[in-house]
Amino acid sequence: FAALVRTDPQVAGIVLDELERQRASLQLIASENPTSPAVLAALGSVLSNKYAEGYPGRRYYGGCAEVDRAERLAVDRAKELFGAEHANVQPHSGASANLAVYAALLHPGDRVLAMALPHGGHLTHGSPGNFSGTWFQAIGYPVREDNELIDYDRMRELARAHRPRLIICGATAYPRLIDFAAFRQIADEVGAYLLVDAAHIAGLVAGGAVPSPVPYADVVTIATHKTLRGPRGGAILCRAALADAIDRAVFPFAQGGPLMHAVAAKAVAFGEAATPEFAAYSQQVVANCRALTAALAEEGMRPVSGGTDTHLALLDIRGIHIAAGRGVSGREAEQRCERAGIILNRNAIPYDTAKPMLSSGIRVGTAAVTTQGMREPEMKVVGNLVARAVRNPEPAIADEVAELVSRFPLYG
Ligand code: PLP
Repeated sequence: FAALVRTDPQVAGIVLDELERQRASLQLIASENPTSPAVLAALGSVLSNKYAEGYPGRRYYGGCAEVDRAERLAVDRAKELFGAEHANVQPHSGASANLAVYAALLHPGDRVLAMALPHGGHLTHGSPGNFSGTWFQAIGYPVREDNELIDYDRMRELARAHRPRLIICGATAYPRLIDFAAFRQIADEVGAYLLVDAAHIAGLVAGGAVPSPVPYADVVTIATHKTLRGPRGGAILCRAALADAIDRAVFPFAQGGPLMHAVAAKAVAFGEAATPEFAAYSQQVVANCRALTAALAEEGMRPVSGGTDTHLALLDIRGIHIAAGRGVSGREAEQRCERAGIILNRNAIPYDTAKPMLSSGIRVGTAAVTTQGMREPEMKVVGNLVARAVRNPEPAIADEVAELVSRFPLYG
């Protein structure tokens, strides 16, 4: 970092400002997590300099002996951590991992059945603005209106009616456990592949805090930077029979040279995630999320689906009034929280009647605050701070947020 300060103080200043922002505010974005100094060291290493198209032992460049070791380590650790037959650790992101899975299993025009986006699905599950909705025929299954849980009956009806080649489960904003066995059964019934997009829950799976999709899915995609707490990136786990198809879909179909510094950083993160400390961490993430959800419910925010089993919760804030007869949109809540130093995001709730840019909900996650060392008592405080900030972001709240985070300093 000293070299950066000397050579480019402007960029160094931005990095320092961002460090200060992360330290001084409360991070409740469900998909973020401050990674370890060891992961950051691998990311900032000379492995970034190396071209290594191909796979270990089968590269299109010379001089790959060292990066081969890094990639083999990452692959072996990923397989061991998740109990998978095969792992590809090259995807640059969760979205690139999903692109490769589509490429490996489908032809353009094939039908894909995935969770409807307004109910918690991801862009890569069939959004019209994304490759998935442009090149494939996407059908969305809903959550039920009464309990906001996945409507397995409707999903089965849609699978029977449309005979998709691929069924996807796993979501961006679904707080509950997913019944992977039920998805497997329906996929088998209609002869579809099953992809579990475990981008969000990968760390919880690794730590044993939620059930693993690996025994049920043909393919599992993960993001390495969310609950897994590694570098920004993706990875694919699959059965041995699909290994070649997946590898060819990542390279040369979807990507060129892998980011070997990121691959090494993934190896570090997989190693960290295999420790008892990480298992305890992932259990605490869920316990914290339950405590935070309960605290927000007490403040009048309705937990979508009645609660959470994971690291995230979705809150319907239509019951909050900031003045007589005046409610608050998700966007306004997000902005009010940011003014108080609380970083979270607005989110549509199932069957939302508000425009997506406004939305009627907020999404919170506890992966980052748990990394900082916060536990249930702090979650009660955080719930109160969020609710007060949404109602009226007076300066005193920002002071309380600053005091709270100062007791759990990031990066020492
Ligand atoms: N899949 C799901 C379910 C996600 O929530 C996300 C990101 O939020 C992704 C895939 C994409 O991950 P990335 O942002 O790394 O491309």
